[in-house]
Amino acid sequence: MAINYQHILDSICEEVKDLLPKGKVADYIPQLSAVSPLQFGIAVYCLDGRTYTAGNAHTRFSTQSVTKLFALALAFSREGDKIWSRVGREPSGNPFNSLSQLEYEQGIPRNPFINAGALVIHDILAARFVQADIALLQFMRMLAREPGLDFDRTVAASEHQTAHRNYAIAHLMKDFGNLHNPVEDIIYGYCRQCSITMNCVELARAASFLSNHGSIPWDGTRILDYSSSKRLNALMLTCGTYDAAGDFAYRVGLPAKSGVGGGIVALVPGELTIAVWSPGLDAAGNSLAGVTALERFTTLTTRSIF
Ligand code: GLU
Repeated sequence: MAINYQHILDSICEEVKDLLPKGKVADYIPQLSAVSPLQFGIAVYCLDGRTYTAGNAHTRFSTQSVTKLFALALAFSREGDKIWSRVGREPSGNPFNSLSQLEYEQGIPRNPFINAGALVIHDILAARFVQADIALLQFMRMLAREPGLDFDRTVAASEHQTAHRNYAIAHLMKDFGNLHNPVEDIIYGYCRQCSITMNCVELARAASFLSNHGSIPWDGTRILDYSSSKRLNALMLTCGTYDAAGDFAYRVGLPAKSGVGGGIVALVPGELTIAVWSPGLDAAGNSLAGVTALERFTTLTTRSIF
């Protein structure tokens, strides 16, 4: 029998209210610091199309690193295992924008979800498409079934002006021969990629192919084969929530990808996707209320992969 998640989402929304002022909004991208932390949204998208929402589930937010998931899916779908010669599949054990590991590992990023890895993935897309950022946006529009998705040009410009660390990472990789396009082009495209805005409903729907073993649930379009979809889910579990992926697996028990805009998308394979958003972050850079909400969801529903 189909489960009605509405009352669970409503009660989670109430439960996390006290946490909202306790998170810290990301301020290293100036435009993000202007967002009120007192917001929380949650959406569940079931593979049969049922959608449940609570709170600010229809408010668009800056998806930031969550886009790394879609960029990886697009690159993986086109290039297959070739991408693994340029980026690894291990948790980094370092902050997402760290430079040190890259130096002693000869410019090969640990995984596609840290910034270095995402820059390499953007570089791979830039070799495939005339404009990688536009190709990714169109891919995400198709996955979300929402042609209105767009870049936030103010956020992109704001990040570009302060992207010193990402420039440093890109230059280091260029020196090691692991960035094929000009640094400037990749940073510009990557900042545009990170600026794409979505709401929880759109985000949950866009990731639903990953809980449907690689194909879009409403029309069957195959994005990834079964095995590649499994592998991408595994990467989300081990590397998707910054340097707290172990703790996230312990508390929530679902593959997920987070971003510094406060969004997290997680999935229950074969059943549903769930997106949460709350801009206040914890010390690891994950949404404070978002992680708690997901923990409550898997506890209350007993829906975790473990
Ligand atoms: N655009 C952000 C950066 O590169 C993304 C960070 C994130 O969400 O993890 O710093």
